[in-house]
Amino acid sequence: MLLHYLKKNVLHFTQVCHSNDSNEPLLICPDFTNNCRLKHSLMFLEGRFQRMCSTRKIIHIDMDAFFASIEQKDHVLFRGKPLIVGGNPQSRGVVAACSYEARKFGIHSAMPCSKAARLCPEAIFTPPRMDRYVEISSKIMAIFRQYTAFVEPLSLDEAFLDVTNMGEKHPSATLLAKQICRQIFEELQLTASAGISYNKFLAKVASDINKPQGITTIPPETAQHFLDTLPIRKFFGVGQVTEKKMRQLGINTGFDLRQWEVERLVFHFGKIGSFLYDIVRGIDDRPVEPMRVRKSIGSETTLPYDTDNLDELRKILAELAKDIEKSLHKKNKGGYTLTLKVRYKNFTTITRSITLKTAMFSADDILPLLPGLLATTYAGTEKIRLVGLTISKLTGRTALPRQLKLPFMYG
Ligand SMILES: [Mg+2]
Repeated sequence: MLLHYLKKNVLHFTQVCHSNDSNEPLLICPDFTNNCRLKHSLMFLEGRFQRMCSTRKIIHIDMDAFFASIEQKDHVLFRGKPLIVGGNPQSRGVVAACSYEARKFGIHSAMPCSKAARLCPEAIFTPPRMDRYVEISSKIMAIFRQYTAFVEPLSLDEAFLDVTNMGEKHPSATLLAKQICRQIFEELQLTASAGISYNKFLAKVASDINKPQGITTIPPETAQHFLDTLPIRKFFGVGQVTEKKMRQLGINTGFDLRQWEVERLVFHFGKIGSFLYDIVRGIDDRPVEPMRVRKSIGSETTLPYDTDNLDELRKILAELAKDIEKSLHKKNKGGYTLTLKVRYKNFTTITRSITLKTAMFSADDILPLLPGLLATTYAGTEKIRLVGLTISKLTGRTALPRQLKLPFMYG
């Protein structure tokens, strides 16, 4: 199994064995003329491997109503009030975040602001201040890294921490999670919730159970019972569409899901089927990846009004392509796959993708592909309320294939 893991993770390893004269593992690599002992690399990989196989201790920490809590911390007048971070109620934007006081009215993120205003007329609306959220986020991540190097941020306000190897200093992962949340509160006056378990999936589900300020531990002994009683929509990867399909097939809980053979799940739900088969049995070997690389770069926007005007859509998409060009440039990346996202007036959302043999780096690379992608949607006939573009299958920008345009000089 170690060999399998090494092969999967390190491309140039062809053979791993133990040399006869010592207990040191010997790596045989085609890249080297002589076989060499890459003791340190192997030790590193072995460490990761052991962390994966032994009972791990994973903490998932998720800030409570992050954007809204920061606004309440920064503005005394917002405290204790139903607060919505997002566009103003007359706009067609959606709720980016809302305070717990607003949630009591049934408001949640991604809800149209106009609907939120109807549900709670006295709600205060405030525009998002991303720079501020990024600033606070980096302080939170720095606190996590005081405890372990194995921190994998999932977004600005949540991260996985692998604390498996902190047994001596912190025998209880639950107490450690409490301590981290307390430190965040003392330093930043913001609250967080934590989930503790032996894999990422369970830790993430656990952090959501007793929000806000909830600390929930799912030990291996009770995991199966917990998973069996878990409603199907709580399983990772089960969105509204999959949930509906599952309910039609009689799958309402983890217990129902566990009765299904893997082949049948894959037949009905595709790739996610085999993942679901594993996680419903408490199997999730995904390591906490501190260096997780970004997999896509995208930009989307809710239109100021629903439209079936193709010219307007093209103009908006050209703007989005420029945004993406800027992000690609900043990160020194390009990508092979372009995905167009379209949300129709009735909120049905579709995506259409195209993958090229050469990477896209700029708006000029993206724009010629848009008419083809748009043609596979109902753009122009059905009214559309949101469009987005994403570049994925990212690659580094290495060569400079483009000819620089030099101005003509008259002498
Ligand atoms: Mg959160």
